[in-house]
Amino acid sequence: MEKVILIKYGELSTKKDNINYFLTRLRDNILFVLKDLNVKVDYDKGRMFIHTKEDFETVISSVPKVFGIHEINICYIIESIDFKEIADQTVNLLKEFSLKTFKVESKRSNKRIPLTSIELSKNMGAQILKNIPNLKVDVNNPEVLVNIEYRNSNTLVYFEQIKGLGGYPVGTLGKGLLMLSGGIDSPVAGYLTSKRGVKLEAIYFESPPHTSHEAKDKVISLARKLAIYNNDINLHIINFTEIQESIYKNIPHEYLITIMRRMMYRISAIIAYNRNCKVLVNGESIGQVASQTLTSMSAINSVVNIPVIRPLACFDKLDIIAIAKSIETYETSILPFEDCCTIFVPKHPVINPDKHKCEEYEKLIPYEELIYQTIKNHEILKITSKEEKQFEDLL
Ligand code: ATP
Ligand code: MG
Repeated sequence: MEKVILIKYGELSTKKDNINYFLTRLRDNILFVLKDLNVKVDYDKGRMFIHTKEDFETVISSVPKVFGIHEINICYIIESIDFKEIADQTVNLLKEFSLKTFKVESKRSNKRIPLTSIELSKNMGAQILKNIPNLKVDVNNPEVLVNIEYRNSNTLVYFEQIKGLGGYPVGTLGKGLLMLSGGIDSPVAGYLTSKRGVKLEAIYFESPPHTSHEAKDKVISLARKLAIYNNDINLHIINFTEIQESIYKNIPHEYLITIMRRMMYRISAIIAYNRNCKVLVNGESIGQVASQTLTSMSAINSVVNIPVIRPLACFDKLDIIAIAKSIETYETSILPFEDCCTIFVPKHPVINPDKHKCEEYEKLIPYEELIYQTIKNHEILKITSKEEKQFEDLL
């Protein structure tokens, strides 16, 4: 009998012809988070198995943040399809626990077995009751659920389950470029997009000296949190100072944010194109601020052709905060260092900007040349989840 970690797929199992594409990626992503450990992973269409002699707790604690997993179980593979043998081994396993109640649940992929799943569960329950005194069946609220899967050449027995995050393995749906600010929203938007299988690169606009080094460190720290789900993240740092100042000097202040965001979109679209990212992703949420009214979004979005994914478009702030807390970005996001948006905020930003006015105002600045220069000189950082946590002491 071998003790392994059993992975169940959930939504992934609905993929038919191309399921293998998703499963090889899931396997590779699991191997990536376990790269410091000695493990072997194999799989079939329904189940994946991690074989290891390492400490099970260590292995198991690394896996739940890999997208595409529905459930994780510590599982025993019994190399037999003989009911008596399976029952004996299951009883031995259960004797290890000090239990009062249990329930058996059976799955039967070996269709040559003449009994139904319910009959198998009843028979197994009877064997357990016969061999372990004082144990009782509780179908509603058992202390332990004894799962038994009768397969063609072996049998799986497992008890406890850890819930996975679901979604699709990162990378199976291509790449997206996340506009990552130091705020609460954009890391959550990134998390939700990765969950659908999209591997992220990220872009951050800074305006030194108007924005501080701490603001940049904060974004790096957030990117590191997102790297947990993405294997690693390339973070593009764009120096936005000259563009920002040029807008500030030349354009009516009520249009500062609209034009600034049009510039961000233009730059992001070029970087996305260069990096083979098929979409932009950001943390915009309808109505949250003046630049997120429908008219504003339309005036800003109109400068690019690339699709823009806004996972938070219809979320309330409180729901966004709940996710930010669950992915542990919230505490970092609320640190007070300002990103470039907040420095140049006008008293009365336009709520319904006029696209044609935007175009007229933009003629007042040589933005194409400025964009070209800033992209040419931009910095790319490769962020992994396991780097030095130099920023954590500020929390
Ligand atoms: P957040 O909390 O994510 O910063 P917000 O409510 O402050 O969002 P805005 O500042 O209007 O809203 O920004 C909307 C979105 O634009 C952000 O969620 C982010 O995706 C992107 N964005 C804003 N500022 C920057 C920046 N400095 N660098 C990269 N992306 C940015
Ligand atoms: Mg912001």
